[in-house]
Amino acid sequence: MSSILSGTPIVYFECRQCKCVLQNPTPDVLDEWKKEHQGHTVTETRKYPLFDLGYNDLKKAGELAQIANELGAVIADIRFMPHTRNPEFSLKHLQEVLGDKYIHVGELGNANYKGTGGIQLANTEAGMRILHGLLANSAVIIICACWKRSECHRVYVAKEYEKRYNVDSTPITRTSARDLLSSVEEKNNPQLALW
Ligand SMILES: [Zn+2]
Ligand SMILES: [Zn+2]
Repeated sequence: MSSILSGTPIVYFECRQCKCVLQNPTPDVLDEWKKEHQGHTVTETRKYPLFDLGYNDLKKAGELAQIANELGAVIADIRFMPHTRNPEFSLKHLQEVLGDKYIHVGELGNANYKGTGGIQLANTEAGMRILHGLLANSAVIIICACWKRSECHRVYVAKEYEKRYNVDSTPITRTSARDLLSSVEEKNNPQLALW
């Protein structure tokens, strides 16, 4: 259970004068640190985590909603064309199930999804801005259909964001998705934890 993912942000306190940074302090440590830097300009920033997921590892849009809820995350759908033969994961159905936790970000879609010439994001600059804006308020899960992360343009998007903002992103593997879903299940039905 220790491997379970979390959507809580890393909190940084930075003193402008001393050029020092305190990361995720306990309340005691923070109190002490604030005393040391009394009268200095101290800023507080939060970095929420970026996740990615291939929804073909799931059966239902409801599972996606549970995972998003568990991580306090919004879903950024980065399919170029958010249509699918599986009606569970069509744009319309995802909007119905996820409400305002669902955003289609076509800017980060692969405009070349039919071609063989490699990945070409529809609008990298605009897409990165949208993603960064979303991450200012909560964790974000970028989703595409693909099972194979290594062959999906979501890796490209995640790496691009990592490079620009000097952060690490985390794939939600089939195993971690299952762990999250069973932890939701246990919360809804505490008896299960006993088994
Ligand atoms: Zn200081
Ligand atoms: Zn994909």
